[in-house]
Amino acid sequence: MTDRELHTPEAKLFVGLFDAIPFGIYVVDIETLDLIYTNGLLKENLPSHSSKKCYEAIYNLSSPCSHCNIKKLKQKKTESPQYIDVYQHFNECNDRWYQMQDKSLTWPDGREAKYSIAVDITDMKEVQNRLAEAHAELAINNRKLAEAAITDMLTQLNNRLKLEIEFEREMERCERYNISMSIILIDLDNFKAVNDNFGHPVGDVVLIESAKRFKKSIRGNDILGRWGGEEFMVICPETNLEAGLLVAEKLRSTLADSDFPVVGPVTGSFGLAHFQKGDTIKELISRSDQALYTAKSDGRNCVRKL
Ligand code: GH3
Ligand code: MG
Ligand code: MG
Repeated sequence: MTDRELHTPEAKLFVGLFDAIPFGIYVVDIETLDLIYTNGLLKENLPSHSSKKCYEAIYNLSSPCSHCNIKKLKQKKTESPQYIDVYQHFNECNDRWYQMQDKSLTWPDGREAKYSIAVDITDMKEVQNRLAEAHAELAINNRKLAEAAITDMLTQLNNRLKLEIEFEREMERCERYNISMSIILIDLDNFKAVNDNFGHPVGDVVLIESAKRFKKSIRGNDILGRWGGEEFMVICPETNLEAGLLVAEKLRSTLADSDFPVVGPVTGSFGLAHFQKGDTIKELISRSDQALYTAKSDGRNCVRKL
């Protein structure tokens, strides 16, 4: 029985209803792959009306489709007769996406058939894709924003906020596990003169280059950041005063040995302090500040500890 032969009153009602439905419906003989029935919407859009095989009429192919699920439907029919194969499919013939629902059934003339509903979901897919792209972009921007919030824009080091966060974390660890920690406050010497003599942009380059040199001289778990202006801070976890002194001395000599373009050598003064049980962040930083002050009054380009 073909759709031309669907002429009983019930069949006419069936055809009328299915032609009014806004998605494609077709039925295929699962033995011969002959197209038995197509509703109105599908007929309008088929590449070939005259073809009899489903793969010719629907996909414009000369042999069965690679995604053909008829074998699977045949197997499923015995296991679970109500089984419906639901999947999304991109039809390269018309560049459109379809939500497919395929089910095996017995056609009124007794033939075993596959009944397929194809809902065009191309617009929905495009919206989904745009949404996914927007989400990905948002995630990237969020990450950039989160990174920017804790980064010093000039030197690309941790900024003061990040240093303060790290302070809290490390001091908590010190209290809890009774471990040591040293901090080094660095202040570039006579930096005002660098700006005054060579201009602010040259001063900026010195800050950037100093940051790079400091970064190269510390260990992987030391935390370096720009404390503000021409001041830097290094948090050295699990480092006692003696070991901290070595780190600070290494940083001092690295800077003193440098020869910056235009400016020449630049030195820094270093204030070292180590965590003592019961310390607040303020107390620890204040000691490093006092040590730095002593380094300045002792002639600069030196490390002092407290
Ligand atoms: P001292 O050895 O006592 O530390 O002297 P100093 O000149 O370094 O100290 P002072 O506090 O008098 O000057 C710090 C200078 O650092 C002044 C300020 O303009 C400069 N400075 C702070 N932030 C920046 C910056 O982002 N870029 C540049 N180029 N200069 C900066
Ligand atoms: Mg200063
Ligand atoms: Mg200074």
